[in-house]
Amino acid sequence: MKKSVFVTREKAEEIAAEYLTPFYLYDEAGIRANAKAVKDAFAWNPGFREYFAVKATPNPFLMQILKEYDIGADCSSYTELMLAEAAGITGSGIMFSSNDTPAEEYTYANRLGAIINLDDITHIDFCEKACGGKLPETMSCRFNPGGRFTLSNGIMDNPGDAKYGMTAEQIREAFTILKSKGVKYFGIHAFLASNTITNDYYSQLAGRLFDLAIELKNETGADIRFINLSGGVGVAYRPDETPNDIAAIGAGVEKVYNEKLVPAGMGDVAIYTEMGRFMMAPYGVVVTRAIHEKHTYKEYIGVDACAVNLMRPAMYGAYHHITVLGKEDAPADHIYDITGSLCENNDKFAIDRQLPGIEMGDLLVIHDAGAHGYSMGYNYNGKLKCAELLLKEDGRVQLIRRAETPGDYFATLDCFEIYDKLKQRVR
Ligand SMILES: *Cc1c(COP(=O)(O)O)cnc(C)c1O
Repeated sequence: MKKSVFVTREKAEEIAAEYLTPFYLYDEAGIRANAKAVKDAFAWNPGFREYFAVKATPNPFLMQILKEYDIGADCSSYTELMLAEAAGITGSGIMFSSNDTPAEEYTYANRLGAIINLDDITHIDFCEKACGGKLPETMSCRFNPGGRFTLSNGIMDNPGDAKYGMTAEQIREAFTILKSKGVKYFGIHAFLASNTITNDYYSQLAGRLFDLAIELKNETGADIRFINLSGGVGVAYRPDETPNDIAAIGAGVEKVYNEKLVPAGMGDVAIYTEMGRFMMAPYGVVVTRAIHEKHTYKEYIGVDACAVNLMRPAMYGAYHHITVLGKEDAPADHIYDITGSLCENNDKFAIDRQLPGIEMGDLLVIHDAGAHGYSMGYNYNGKLKCAELLLKEDGRVQLIRRAETPGDYFATLDCFEIYDKLKQRVR
């Protein structure tokens, strides 16, 4: 399938004239349409709730758009909890799915009334202490079935190698302990595979979790209120991939729900999800300008963005589609490496990519950067992170995070004398 862009060259140039390149651009219309589709897909389940995985795109303005669709926040750190609170999401609107959790994070999550999802059985006492000696009424436990998890289309992941979650034995014991400590309502959570490009992942995962829930209810008497399918629903980064169909995914979960939970007398259990990538990745792009071309043993195009702005290609060799704006329909008759400026040879957005001929000054769009994009950035080489902008439904552009300045980069030196010298140089 041809990948389309939600911004024209003219519009991108207009934005670049005001905000400079590179920048992140998010598509409000796309975010809203998708949020609505997710709600519709699970409307059969009255308690359904999506908790947006904040780590994917920790921007409060985007979180607030999702909040309009009753979408909560899945947090796993102190600052993510702060963001949720500031965005007006509190109480059961927050799922705290952390691991290796510091005590003060449990304390804060508990103060906000978040639903705490325990990663390990040893966290029960730790969390109880952090919550001032009294656990919340509702608690969730994270399951890890171990071994391999294989989907019908051959996609698999290795839960047995993953640091997350508890064994079934441990959850059984954890539920019994939690009950004895006064916990009333229970949830089960699992995240078994990432970026699954198949409509079957959630239903297969749900089947396993529903079986486990029925067992746990029978064996421990726990009042199970929700099953959290977590994240892992993928997006089509490559043009030859078929995007997931969220309606089909929702219907697949409904089928298993009716087959397993309803006959077990558990037809009131809520389904929760914690999607990050699926909620945001396709609706965010990096817009960057070609500033150098280089012909040595290969053809290089140097752009003004680098891995600091989008790390996935450098870190995982991840594919991100690239469109040269204004040349959407031109033949892709050149082969380029598209590089950033870091002193790291893996700072390449694309390797041996077929693209139309690129001229200096052309604007390139790097697709599907709306999740695990900006948030994964870092500051290597002292490079600064760029701005985030929202293309509103009415065509206006809203700044939702300014670009970093040298002042931001040096801010953690502000308790030292040398900071005065640095500050003098900050324009
Ligand atoms: C990262 C993460 C998610 C979101 O994953 P996606 O692949 O972006 O959907 C959800 N829940 C937890 C606990 C996570 O760590």
